[in-house]
Amino acid sequence: MPWNGEQVAVCGMRQERNISTFVAGIATCTLGHAHPVMVEAVTQQIQTLHHVSNLYYTAAQGELAKWLVGHSCADRAFFCNSGAEANEGAIKLARKYAHTVLNIENPVIITAHASFHGRTLATITATGQPKYQKGFSPLVPGFYYVPYNDIAALERAIDELDSGGDRQVAAILLEALQGEGGVRPGDRAYFQRIREICNQKGILLICDEVQVGMGRSGQYWGYENLGIEPDIFTSAKGLGGGIPIGAMLCKSFCDVFQPGDHASTFGGNPFACSVALAVCQTLERENLLANVRDRGEQLRAGLSAIAQKYPDAIADVRGWGLINGLELKADSPLTSPEVIKITTDHGLLLVPAGPKVIRFVPPLIVTSDEVNQALETLEKAFASF
Ligand SMILES: *Cc1c(COP(=O)(O)O)cnc(C)c1O
Repeated sequence: MPWNGEQVAVCGMRQERNISTFVAGIATCTLGHAHPVMVEAVTQQIQTLHHVSNLYYTAAQGELAKWLVGHSCADRAFFCNSGAEANEGAIKLARKYAHTVLNIENPVIITAHASFHGRTLATITATGQPKYQKGFSPLVPGFYYVPYNDIAALERAIDELDSGGDRQVAAILLEALQGEGGVRPGDRAYFQRIREICNQKGILLICDEVQVGMGRSGQYWGYENLGIEPDIFTSAKGLGGGIPIGAMLCKSFCDVFQPGDHASTFGGNPFACSVALAVCQTLERENLLANVRDRGEQLRAGLSAIAQKYPDAIADVRGWGLINGLELKADSPLTSPEVIKITTDHGLLLVPAGPKVIRFVPPLIVTSDEVNQALETLEKAFASF
């Protein structure tokens, strides 16, 4: 199949007109569309063995686990089919660890305001945004929320929860960079102090790497930007390059799951695993992290220039690698969907992260020309208001 890197990176939908996607299937299509490496992995696997269940070992699952463990702080991997499922697995593992190792009867997992962890009942409860929970009560017990990047508030919450009541903190679950909640990078000092607290108390630090992981931040994992290692982390979105797969990874000391504790029928199927492995190997072989960092700097520089030109409309530009946000001024009448409607009319797809933030999550193979083109289109949109 013919493949033109530029065309593929730019075009969500290949032809008709030149559509540039800085959405990439919501941060999933890391290698763009129709990448030959994915075409080959899909074809080869569907021609041999696409699904057998976890009653048996398969090479693809083992090799993917080995790659992930070899390129992260984790020792073990569990595979599922989505980000929410990966987080469900992490929540279950943390609860079992609390019961069996920490002797906590009523474990609480602390999460952050403006976080996003998925759409199942436990993960909408973990998600610190009422709009995702509205209409679905009763929610799952055992969660407590704190403002993100605020160490004093977190320490107060832990003291309060652990001071005598029947509940006790078992784990802290955070995104290294909050994606859906407005593209907010974690603060290094905040995460380093949390790591110390978790070590002191023996509780678990869980990072939700579903959006920021798999190379998007310019490192393989978002937590690497913060100089810490989580005990458990989750991946999905970019892991399969747009083919559905999720993973929950952990250090061996907290792997308290016994056979039968947790499982998934389709999780770890050779089809999804072989594609994910091909994506991982391509990230490494083609040194895509360097492209992510360079294109990210270029994009942020361009966005900052636009922000200087439209100071009444734009409040902030922030992000890591190729996950970036442009925040509109709170007192500006503009909203992110309005700006995105204009750029879409000009052939540039973008996705909001809340009503005031425009998110930029292009494929990791995006080129310098494509970044410039996207900046031009965005500038035209601001000029049109
Ligand atoms: C998208 C997302 C999820 C949910 O992933 P799904 O595959 O949609 O279930 C969880 N956490 C974060 C940080 C996400 O961005």
